Parts: sequence; structure tokens; C-alpha cells
Amino acid sequence: MAISREGALDWPLRRVFAKREVDIFTARGLHTLSDLMHWVPRTYLSSVPIERHFEDGERVHLVADVVSSREVPMRSRKGSLLKVLVDAGNQKFELTFFQTRPHKFILSPGRRALFAGKVAAFNGRWQLAQPEYVLLSSNGVDDQTIETLAESPLIPIYRRMGTKLGSWGIAKAVIVALDSLWAVADPVQELAARHELPPLYETFRLVHRPVDLDEPQIGRRRLKYDEALAIQVVLAMRRAATSGDAAVARAGAVGGVLDAFDARLPFRLTEGQVETGEVLAEELARDRPMHRLLQGEVGSGKTVVALRAMLHVVDSGGQAALLAPTEVLAQQHYRTITAMLGDLAMGGMLGGNDIGTRVALVTGSQSAADKRRNLALATSGEAGIVIGTHALLQDKVAFADLALVVVDEQHRFGVEQRDVLRGKAARVPHTLVMTATPIPRTVAITAFGDLDTSTLSQLPSGRAEIKTFVVPATRPTWVQRVWERMAEEVAAGRQVYVVCPRVGDGSSGDDLTYWERAQAKQQAEEARARGDQVNPDDEDEKATAARLAEEARLRRAAASVVDTDAMLAEVPVLKGLRRAVLHGRLPAEERERIMTSFAAGEIDILVATTVIEVGVDVPNASLMVVLDADRFGISQLHQLRGRIGRGEHPSSCFLVCLADEGTPTRDRLEAVAATTDGFELAEVDLDQRGEGDVLGALQSGRSGGLALLRLREDSDLIELAREDARGLVDADPTLEGSPELLRYLRTYVDDQQADFVERG
Ligand code: ADP
Ligand code: MG
Repeated sequence: MAISREGALDWPLRRVFAKREVDIFTARGLHTLSDLMHWVPRTYLSSVPIERHFEDGERVHLVADVVSSREVPMRSRKGSLLKVLVDAGNQKFELTFFQTRPHKFILSPGRRALFAGKVAAFNGRWQLAQPEYVLLSSNGVDDQTIETLAESPLIPIYRRMGTKLGSWGIAKAVIVALDSLWAVADPVQELAARHELPPLYETFRLVHRPVDLDEPQIGRRRLKYDEALAIQVVLAMRRAATSGDAAVARAGAVGGVLDAFDARLPFRLTEGQVETGEVLAEELARDRPMHRLLQGEVGSGKTVVALRAMLHVVDSGGQAALLAPTEVLAQQHYRTITAMLGDLAMGGMLGGNDIGTRVALVTGSQSAADKRRNLALATSGEAGIVIGTHALLQDKVAFADLALVVVDEQHRFGVEQRDVLRGKAARVPHTLVMTATPIPRTVAITAFGDLDTSTLSQLPSGRAEIKTFVVPATRPTWVQRVWERMAEEVAAGRQVYVVCPRVGDGSSGDDLTYWERAQAKQQAEEARARGDQVNPDDEDEKATAARLAEEARLRRAAASVVDTDAMLAEVPVLKGLRRAVLHGRLPAEERERIMTSFAAGEIDILVATTVIEVGVDVPNASLMVVLDADRFGISQLHQLRGRIGRGEHPSSCFLVCLADEGTPTRDRLEAVAATTDGFELAEVDLDQRGEGDVLGALQSGRSGGLALLRLREDSDLIELAREDARGLVDADPTLEGSPELLRYLRTYVDDQQADFVERG
């Protein structure tokens, strides 16, 4: 194969490689030399220094000559082993293969090869069982590359590509590619140099052919920066593209519905609410679309801020749509917003207020008649505020003049859905996105980098403290105390949530209650403790094993609403208290009815799934018991806990779990118990879950997740890249002056984004 020395990064791989290899690369989404250069080694093996001591199980690679080989019949079954003695300079190794073919033919005496595997000491000699190997010193280019590899002090180990191309095959291909990239133009050189990051060609060498273990780290930093830059360039371009759009300026009005609303607010707005309100009013009054993210602590009062922005556009003759992730939340918003507006929500109706408007609710489970009526309100423009779930995205939903789209609890909606709703406006509407819980800054700028951010970090004054406790379900006295606390709380006039991970149907016989499982676990633990002292042949031991197996089975099914409700009915201290269940399987009207009567104080204990997770707002609820709390993530628990402590009543949250002390699961719960600061918890969450999950859940611009970049460790690079990207795009909004940069950055973005970049 002829190797050109003038290869460029965007050369298709087929100009360098044979079809067989190209097919494998293509199947992995690798098309250009640049793509292959970004297939970064997973780890590196160090060469075998002569006469050194190994750790048992250490992975090594070595260049060695075959001395002899012999077949040894296996003792316990048919067939033979192949034992090959090789000489690596001063040290001999014995290799073992569990099949003689084809190795006995390939590894004939005198052959030299590169071997890799785990070493173990055996009969006073170092052994490698089933090593991988490639022969050296025959003819042809391939072997030359392997020689190169064999001489390296560190051998890169790559993730294999399917079954067809292993680490060495990839290493060879990379060497060929590196050689053909003799000198590459580095489209990011200037920026990289400014941050003391190595030039691109050097970066590839550092990563693929390092001479020591520090080099890959230096190279990876450069690649991470490039990845962050690509993401930030896409976001900056998206931002530039949309901010160039014309929007209708919504100036608001003096003496309108917003003023009337403010006048009757039962509380003073917090400083943060006032400031954010001013920012929103100012941006809505511009003729360029607002794109703003409102993030804030649970309970910080984001809804009021959003509602005031909605009323601002109503005062300007426009409509606002509020998109909620669940039906319960949409209904909740409808209820709170109409309640807060009072007669201001009855514009044009008898007994309504002259300057008022109407509020329409559109959900999937509405009756046809209800839906028709609400859709008509939206279409005619009578409803200044339209609240809904995904149902709002359907074709038949039309607005008279959609001015503002508010997306609540963004993590459940994608960028595309935001776009669908925006498409329902004649001109690009203003957009306000709200997150349910605080998110770390690096997540915000990676997932929402195209949005400007406002943060409400302050809670309204007069909020009572929430104390959180982790309760081991295996301690009957503690659990009993939880039930007693519930009873006390109700006796004091308060209300209680009991949250379960599952609905359950109560019909299956092996669906044990949470309580029964806790008991079973405790018995299993006792059995295990006894088991330590008995003879292994003892029947008891078998019983213990059976019990442990049973325990494992029991642990799989999480607490369910149905079982828990039945169990609570049997708890003596809770006798006579008014209970209800709430979950997604109930018909919508039923859920609506239950939420309304819980809000009205007609239900003492609400046993629910996470349908109450977001938005539900009942200030009289002051106690929450989360069963199998370890089944929930950190931000979910924080969000759930935000349902209490919303009034002036001191509140408590019990995280009941079967997780043992000292386990990561238990640590997660302890972290939630230790602080109510959502920003702090967001960082812990990012640490524990990794960005894949966090970003995935947030529907980042990047559907493929991150390659090398780590939101937590690389926050400095992300910040730098963001600044740089904005600088680049400010100077040249479509980057048409830097086609090489655009082409290079394409390595990092998925197709959808690449389309966007190319369109831009
Ligand atoms: P979140 O930011 O979690 O969505 P909400 O908007 O649901 O919080 O507000 C939580 C509760 O606080 C609601 O009952 C709301 O009416 C109330 N609230 C909002 N702003 C204030 C304020 N400035 N003073 C007192 N209570 C407020
Ligand atoms: Mg909210």
C-alpha cells in the first residue's frame, strides 16, 4: 500500500485503507482520517523491561522468540494444551493455549512475535495464558508497522471494532494513518496555543504513540478542549442564528392585567424574582426572540416569575403557552394559576374582571368536548394563557398570536419539541425554559449553552426548615417511629406524602409488602450471622443459602403504592386517618379529584408515585416518607422533598431504605439528608451518575453523549471553549471564513448538529 505523505485530516479513509478495513471503520461511524485519529486508546501497556519483577495478573506485552513448543494432554478431559516456550532476551516465558490449533503451526521455533497477556508465576516461571500475539519480521508494510509498535515503550490498547478488528489491527491502522498525516493543518492551533495545549499533529502522537504515561494526558486535554469547542460552536451558532430572527416586541402595558395581578399578590416578591422579572420584561419588549433558561432552587418561586412574564405578553395583546411534562403537573399549574389570578382569569365572563384574560388547559386525557372548548379558546385568542402537556404539540392546536413559550421542567422535553411549539407562532416567539432543580454550571452551559441563564437561588422568606433522615427499613422500632410521626403530624393538622417507586397491582401473590421484605432481609442477615458458625455440610447452611437467595429475589421488587396503602391500613397508630392513592394509572379525572381534595385538606395521607415529583404545591403538607428511597436519584429526591417545607410549618422527610451503611447507595441518601442546597446536590449527582445520564436526561444538543469530555473534571476547558466559541461566532456568525475549522469540528458533532452547522 502506497503511503502519501500529504494526507489531510478530512481525507476519506478509503484513500488510505483497503475495502475490508474501510467497511469496518464505516460501520463504526469513522469516515475520515480525523475520525480514526480520534479513536483514542483505552489504555497503554508498558514494555517488558528485561529481568524485572511482575505483579501477578499484570498485563504486559513483550517481543520474544519462540524456543520450542509441545502438546500436553489434558488431565480432566479430552484434548491437549499447547505450551510454548519463548525467549524475551534475558527472561523466558511459558505461554499456554487451550487449543493447539492454529498456534502450533504459527508459533514454530525461531519465529519472533509480539505477545500480550496477563502474567502469572507458575512452577518458578512466568506464564501467559492465552496471550494475543502478532508475528514480526516477515515481509510487507503491515509488519513494518508492527515492528514500530514492538519498539514502542508503550503499546496503545484500543477498544476493538466489532469482532473483526482487534486492538492490534487498529494500532496498525493508526500508525499508517499517522504516517500519512505527515503534517496536518491545525485549524484550532491559535486558540490551543493560547491555552498551552499542544498542536494537533503532536496531540495525535502523544495519544497514539506516547513514550511515557504523561504524554497521553497532555494529548487528551487538547482533544477534550476541541470537543468542548465543537459543542460550544454549535450552541453559539444556534444562538446567533435564532437571535438574528425577528420577533414581535411585547412592550407590556401600564394598568394592565400584570399590574392588577401584582397588586393582589399575597406576598412580596423576592429580590431574585423582581430582578428576573425585570430582565424578562426587557427582553420581551425587544424585537429579537428571548431565549432564556430560568433555573432555581426547588420552591424558589419560578412559577410566579413565569406567570408574570405570561401576563406581560397578554398585556401586549399576545398569548403564552405553558408546556408541562406530565398531566398532573399541567393540571396543577392550571389550578394554581387560575387560583392566583382569581377573577383576572375570567376575562369576558360574567363576574370576571374587565382587564382579565382566560386560561385554557389542553391535555391528552380530556373529554372531546372539553378539549374542543379549550382549543377554541386558544385559537380565538380569548385565552391569553394556554397550559398543556405534549398534547399542545399536536397539529390541531393553533393560537391566535403566540408570543411566549414557557417550557416547565425542561429535562423531559427535547429541543425539537420546543421547536414544534415555536412553529405554531406566526413570528418566532420568545422562549423561557425552566429546570426543575438546579443544575451545575458546566451542565447548564453544555446542555443549554444557546440560552441565557437566570438563577433564583433564594427561597421566599418565612419558609420552614426541612429535616431529612435516613431510616433503615430493617429496624422495626425506627419504622414504627415513622408511622407515629405521621400520626402526630396529622393530629397537628398537617398532611403527609408517602412516596413509592412503583404502582403495583396487589394481585400477584409474591408481591410482598415493603414491610415483609424488610423483615425478610433482617432474618436473612441473622441467618447469615449464624451461618458463619455452622459446619458447611449442615442443613442450616443450606437453609441460609436458600434464605439469602430469597432475599435477593425480594430485593428486586420495590415498594408499591397499592401494597403500601394496604399495609398502612393495618398500622394501629394510623387507624382512622384519611388516605388516598395517586399514580399514573388512575384516570385523569380521578387524579384531578384526588389532588384537589388533598390540596383542600380533605386527605391526610397521600400514598403516591413520583407523579407528585414536580410542581405539586400544598403548603400544609409537612411530612414526606419515601419508601425504597434508594431507587431514586439525587435530584429526583431533592425535587420530591421540595413538595414539603413550602409553608411556615417545620417539615421532615424520611428516606426509608434497605441499603446497607457504607454502600454508595446509602451514601447518596446520606448526601441528600445532609443538605437542602440543590446546587450542592447537583454537583454530587453529577459525580455519581456521570454526565452521560445527566446530559441524556437534559436532552443536550448532543444526542451521542460526550466522547472524552467530562463535565466535572473538565469544567475549566468547557469555560474556555465557551468563551472562545462565542468569540469566533461573534466575529463570524456562520464561520464561513473558517471552512477548515468547521470541517474539523464536524468530527465531534453528530449528524443532526453537523447539518445545522452546515446550514448555518
Ligand atoms: P418552584 O420554583 O419549585 O417551581 P413554586 O413556583 O412552585 O416553586 O413556588 C413555591 C411556593 O412558593 C408557591 O406556593 C408559591 O406561591 C410560593 N411563593 C412564590 N414566591 C413567593 C414569595 N416571594 N413569597 C412567598 N411565597 C412565594
Ligand atoms: Mg415549579
